[in-house]
Amino acid sequence: MYRFTYSIFLIYINYPPGSSMNRKKELEKNLLSVQKKIAEACMRGGRSTDTVQLLPVSKKKPITDIMLLRELGSFSFGENYVQELCEKFEALPEPHSWHMIGHLQKNKIRRLIGRTSLIHSVDSLSLAIAVDKEADKQMLKQDILIEVNIASEESKWGFIPDELQEAAKTIAGLKHLRIKGLMCSAPITSNPESNRQYFRLMRELLEGIQAFCPEADILSMGMSGDYMVAVEEGATMVRIGSAIFGEREG
Ligand SMILES: *Cc1c(COP(=O)(O)O)cnc(C)c1O
Repeated sequence: MYRFTYSIFLIYINYPPGSSMNRKKELEKNLLSVQKKIAEACMRGGRSTDTVQLLPVSKKKPITDIMLLRELGSFSFGENYVQELCEKFEALPEPHSWHMIGHLQKNKIRRLIGRTSLIHSVDSLSLAIAVDKEADKQMLKQDILIEVNIASEESKWGFIPDELQEAAKTIAGLKHLRIKGLMCSAPITSNPESNRQYFRLMRELLEGIQAFCPEADILSMGMSGDYMVAVEEGATMVRIGSAIFGEREG
């Protein structure tokens, strides 16, 4: 009852009655446009469209938007904050899956495990160890991606390319984690071509760890500003926020 009331409350505050049809049309238009560009990038890269998963990033967006996207066929969503991910998980559990894509603080791990299908942002050894420990407690195996700070930027989390191989070997030894691949956020740029070198390097790094991470086949890279280049260079998962939902506040 609480959940139901809460969902209705969210719908009410975010959506004045009567506007949801327009919003659905808008989301559909954006979604189709992104899907079309992914398909075109796949053609250019010589791959089949179904090798790329589009992950809508719903951070700071209301449950009502997520419900509309579900009607349009999306069931997995990326979130940056544990609190928000958990609230959305409670409101919309199965068959939805929630991906944690933001920097994860250790004191939030306990809350997150059991509610996320994939953590993209394993960005340090100590975090990997802490996630492994909690997965052990909850008796599950957690799927993760290792985050790479691909352009070695001061402001970004993740392993720099030179550290990755060693780190991945250590993480591969943690029994309650399953390394499914790599993730990066390339530099923010107005010229997506300038990120091509980084996406290419990501692909080489993935190939480098596959020798000892047999299940690692995901390359989570490309956001609204650069996903077409990322797909051309081998992305298998693109994380798209503003190109689907519109600009975020804050
Ligand atoms: C917000 C965010 C995205 C989506 O960004 P857009 O530019 O809105 O598509 C993707 N990945 C991460 C890690 C993010 O924080």
